[in-house]
Amino acid sequence: MTIPFTDIAQIYCDGAWHAPQAGTEPVINPATEDVLANAPVASAQQVEAAITSAREAFDNGPWPRMSMAERADVVEALARELRARQSQIAELIVAEVGCAASITQLMQVGNPLRLLEAAIGHARREQSERLPIDVTPNPFAPDGPRSIGGTTVVREPIGVVSAITGYNFPFLLNLAKIGPALLAGCTMVLKPSPFTPFSALMFGRLADEIGLPPGVLNIVTGGIEEGQLLCTDERVDMVTFTGSEAVGAQIMGQAAPTLKKVHLELGGKSAMIVREDADVERAAVSAATLLSINAGQGCAIPTRFLVHESQRAGFAATAAAVAEQISVGNPADPATDMGPLIRASQRSKVEHFIELGHSAGAKLVCGGGRPEGLDKGYFTQVTLFDDVTNDMAIAQEEIFGPVGCIIGFSSDEEAIRIANDSRYGLNGAIETADAAKGYEMAMQVRAGSVSLNGGTGTMSDAPIGGYKRSGIGREYGPGWLREYQHEKSIFYPIGR
Ligand code: NAD
Repeated sequence: MTIPFTDIAQIYCDGAWHAPQAGTEPVINPATEDVLANAPVASAQQVEAAITSAREAFDNGPWPRMSMAERADVVEALARELRARQSQIAELIVAEVGCAASITQLMQVGNPLRLLEAAIGHARREQSERLPIDVTPNPFAPDGPRSIGGTTVVREPIGVVSAITGYNFPFLLNLAKIGPALLAGCTMVLKPSPFTPFSALMFGRLADEIGLPPGVLNIVTGGIEEGQLLCTDERVDMVTFTGSEAVGAQIMGQAAPTLKKVHLELGGKSAMIVREDADVERAAVSAATLLSINAGQGCAIPTRFLVHESQRAGFAATAAAVAEQISVGNPADPATDMGPLIRASQRSKVEHFIELGHSAGAKLVCGGGRPEGLDKGYFTQVTLFDDVTNDMAIAQEEIFGPVGCIIGFSSDEEAIRIANDSRYGLNGAIETADAAKGYEMAMQVRAGSVSLNGGTGTMSDAPIGGYKRSGIGREYGPGWLREYQHEKSIFYPIGR
């Protein structure tokens, strides 16, 4: 059985499909280690051609000159086509990423589409802004008559956007670039992770179907070298990136000589604070379940569990019991809770951190190895350490696997101090019976989002992004398009 969209053997540029000049590269199914399909790989010249096409479409094509409503109609057609293919997209993600089918449909496909639909709604309501009339003295004749004038602020597309994305939620990450960039009137070149090329190339098929003008959306494949070109080429106006902190820093450096706008959505090491008065049972179930999402390969998953000392033992016991119940295996099986990590290299990284946890003196309370009976696939167990101090590597570094640390605290102030003692600031969580106190504490957490008592469960229409080294800029929510727009102020006199 062929997995949907894995038959795409070409790259998408200037509204047409092109044979890859750098050949093909096998894409591995992480659950079986089999070759899922051979993906096309773009050459450096093809990346440059894609930039040329995006530049031409921006400078001379219809897309940036269309009204917001016209563009919203096209993006809405894209959303409709994506909705119609939800189950195919989910099937692809299960095979490319190894994410359990039981959560893929909603988390990896359904929620991203809701975010896109919200963005279309915001785009339709977008208006220029008129500032209040202003009375200004004449600088050349201060005692002479003053003038009155007004200002209109219009928003225009930034230009050509390079979008570079990671592998863990590929549909969401790609859509989170394509949606707002196109609505704003930008043109773009998208380069996905080499681990998940098909869930990006797929958008080329749909661009054809909805009649997107040539050059508006170009999709190239490849690795670091191709990504570098997209950051250094002077014809690109902005780079939007979702991936690791280290690559984010490189991208900033690569984009600096040409002073491009840089938008970064990076890693995290988010803390869940479990107060003395919390429903510890519920918090522990939630902690272990969150850790298992996509085998821990989620930027915003809480991985540091800061638990009041009076509750720590109970929390650890319940979380470990829940973690041991998580069924690990074939992600395509609807009964599976957790699939594999993306590659052997990622599993080695996770195992390295587990060793560091042991050698630092942390106490393993569950997991710590590979699940039995799974000889193929990059599987790992949900792993929890207790007796962790926040200075240990397992508490400071983003592991990007299902590994959690339990850290004790004795006062709310100490909990906040530990939560903020991280170079990341992506997300956070607070569990407490005193919601008002929890809200006050949420205000003190230096992170782009905080879920109080489980939050709403979905991100719906809220802006998401990082403080500190978790990123620069925001995705989603009413201001999403602004990342892809310039503001222009037009001043005019009134009365003459
Ligand atoms: P990664 O940083 O290894 O790679 C991301 C992309 O960057 C890939 O397409 C890769 O080919 C490209 N790349 C690598 N070096 C480059 C360079 N020098 N110039 C240009 N491009 C380059 O990330 P990953 O392992 O695929 O993804 C996991 C990371 O993404 C984690 O750190 C995770 O926290 C983060 N992430 C963040 C968010 C968020 O919204 N904040 C969401 C998902 C994932």
